[in-house]
Amino acid sequence: MDLALFGKLLGRWLWPESCAHCLRDIKEESRGGLCRNCFHKETSPIHRPFCLSCGSPLSGSRPECPPCRGKKRACRPIVALYAYRDAAVSAIRAFKYLGHQRAALELGSAMGGRFADYPEISDFEAAVPMPLHWRRLRERGYNQAELLARGLFRETGLPIVHALRRSRRTMPLVSLTREERKEAVSDAFEPALPADAIHGRRFLLIDDVATSTASLEECARTLRRAGAAAVGAYVLARQF
Ligand SMILES: [Zn+2]
Ligand SMILES: [Zn+2]
Repeated sequence: MDLALFGKLLGRWLWPESCAHCLRDIKEESRGGLCRNCFHKETSPIHRPFCLSCGSPLSGSRPECPPCRGKKRACRPIVALYAYRDAAVSAIRAFKYLGHQRAALELGSAMGGRFADYPEISDFEAAVPMPLHWRRLRERGYNQAELLARGLFRETGLPIVHALRRSRRTMPLVSLTREERKEAVSDAFEPALPADAIHGRRFLLIDDVATSTASLEECARTLRRAGAAAVGAYVLARQF
């Protein structure tokens, strides 16, 4: 094989050929599987104020959105970098379904780059990637939440701890009502560490998309029951 062809194949392996959102060839530096333009202009960062309980943007000055007011949450705060729309959707599809693992690492780094902007999550001791069921892990070959956590670690040094595992496989929650989602994830997780490794510690759950907060809440409940002092979440994107 000649060197030019080898270089091209290597390049194609390392960088997806085209932007996951606009599909144009990526000629310059890319990030998260996106061209520079889509990464900077076609994503929708969630700005303050946002609801500390669920991560949704807020219009008023109160710290929580109307549905969250007065509710006690096991997972708090939930911070999301982007709204789940536009280029964030394309990037997440690319690393979740098209195997672009490098995109997930880079977006984890992007989460790390913004970490200092969120003092609410600065005192968590360890990142806990949302676990995949072992069968899905085997199908996909990697856990995208773990790749995000690794990218986050690169920027912040926040250690990764696999504190949870799935005790059973759950159906996709997208089409379910709020109550059905709660039911679907009930007891779906269990601690993956001995009690003394969880007791008194502060864990930050990491995930790609929070559609409802049912899975994050169930994970947090599982860790809190095992003695965790606090559980929050930092997700790449929040769907409203
Ligand atoms: Zn693009
Ligand atoms: Zn809320």
